Order: sequence, then C-alpha cells, then structure tokens
Amino acid sequence: MMKKLSLLIVLGICVMGNIRSWGFLSHRTINQNACLALPQPLFKFYKLHVDYLVNHATDADSRRNMVEGEACKHFIDCDYYEKAAPLDTICKDWKLAVAKYSEDTVLKHGIVPYQCAKMMYWLTKAFEEKNVEKILKLSADLGHYIADAHVPLHTTSNYNGQKTNQHGIHSLWETKIPEHHLSNYPIFISEVNFIRNYPDSIWKAVEESYSLVNKVLFDERNAKEQTPENLQYQFTQKGGRIIKQESAFFIKQYEEKVGLMVQNRMKSAIRMVASSWYTAWILAGEPDLNLKQNPINEIPVPAIEPEESHHH
Ligand SMILES: [Zn+2]
Repeated sequence: MMKKLSLLIVLGICVMGNIRSWGFLSHRTINQNACLALPQPLFKFYKLHVDYLVNHATDADSRRNMVEGEACKHFIDCDYYEKAAPLDTICKDWKLAVAKYSEDTVLKHGIVPYQCAKMMYWLTKAFEEKNVEKILKLSADLGHYIADAHVPLHTTSNYNGQKTNQHGIHSLWETKIPEHHLSNYPIFISEVNFIRNYPDSIWKAVEESYSLVNKVLFDERNAKEQTPENLQYQFTQKGGRIIKQESAFFIKQYEEKVGLMVQNRMKSAIRMVASSWYTAWILAGEPDLNLKQNPINEIPVPAIEPEESHHH
C-alpha cells in the first residue's frame, strides 16, 4: 500500500506553481475596496457598478495565455535595468524608453508601469465621452495592473524564486498568504488623492515593490531553515492527482516573518487604484455620470484559469 502511494506521488506529483498575479481573491478585494474609498459623487457611480469591477478584476490574467502581448503588461524586471544604471534613471516615458532601450527589450522585460500610465490616458478619454462601458472595463483592468505593480515579485526576473532555488515563492507570497489570512485583515479605508505626476507615482510604487524583493526571498529561506522538512509541505488529492503544496503551518511561519508586508502592499495598491480612477475623472472635467442607469449588462466571461505561464 505504501509502495503504491509513493509511486502515485512520484507519477502524479505536481508542485503547484500556479503563477498569476496576486490571487484571484486579492485582485477582487483590491478593486472592491478601491470603490468604497472614493469620494462622492464618484463613489455613487462606482458603487452602482461594484459587482462588475470585482467580477472583472482578473480578466487581464485570463487573457494572458490567449492574447499575444498581454503577458508583459503584468510585470517589470527592475533588476535587468539596475544592472546598467541606478533604477531611478530608467526612462519613465514609454517613447523615450523605447528609443533608449529598443522596443523588443522593453517588451521583453515587462511594461507594467508604462501600461498603467497608458491606461490612465484611455480612462480619462472614456470619462470625457461618458462611455460607461469603457469606463468600467478600463477601470477594472487598470485596477489589476496597478495591483500587480505593488507585488515585489512582479518587479524582478527572479519572479518565482527560480534563480535562488525558491520555486513556488510567487504564489506563496501573493496568493497563499492572502487566502489564508485575508479574512483577518482589517477593511482598508484609504485616503484618495489627485495624482499630479502619474508616471512618477506609478514608478514610485514599482520602486517600493522592488526594494522589498530581498526581504521576500530572505524570509522564505529563513522560514524553510526553521521549519522541519516534514512540516513544510502537505499532500492533497485533486482530480485524481496528488498535489504537493506548502502546508498551512509553513505558510503561517512565512507570514510571521514578512509581517505586515503583504497587507501593506495591498493597502497601497487600493489607495493607488482609487486615486487613479479619481484622477482620471478630475482630468476629464468631473463629468456628471448618468446615475439613473442600471448596472451594465454582465457579459459572462468564460472562466478560464490561466495555465502556468512563461513569465509571471
Ligand atoms: Zn496580473
């Protein structure tokens, strides 16, 4: 019996490295809390459509394996640029960056901050047109990319610990910790600000994320060293396969080491998402949105779980 079981483990083992941005739950929480943070009259509009913004918070991830050119919008490899010059010398403007590093290079190493800045422009236009469908779609996606920019492991080429023998750390930090502990987090009430210099702000968020990468990796190594090997993983059955994943005990050990980092990054993401929506609305001249409208008809999106992708 034991022999059979170990054979099964060998044949069917699958170390879950389900790489996606934050977890499903975190993205939804971030968009939802951003809606709640908005001042009137924008609050009224977003609250009316909060279900849409929550349900579409992970559309960008669902597109990743279907739409060419989508994957690079979710990350940036700051370490690549830092090799050449201090990080704060990166061109924050898309056109200048392409001219300096070549478009292929920029796309290859990820464009999340450029993507956010680009979407701010589109969202502002959508507000000017008072196009509710566009406003909602862009708001949901922008919320997603901003959230990704707040995840330390979305700002390094060692995004899944593959360069430091810490495979699986990506989902450990951004999915498993929040899933285990999100219900204990306080409700985030954020202040919302008009953002004067958008590229500066989003790059600041990226730089903050990047400055935490070493701690994210160091703490995991530390937690592994201090947890007996037989307590680090647990095996569960799923669809006829045996899956090896970090044990709840180990996740807790790691979370204690990273402390408030996960919830603080989430909090900063919420503040920036709400501030971005608010800023686009102000820049569009504070249009009066037709609040008598019903929530837009939900077009059901096929629930496609992103496969483990090549990058992030
Ligand atoms: Zn993502």
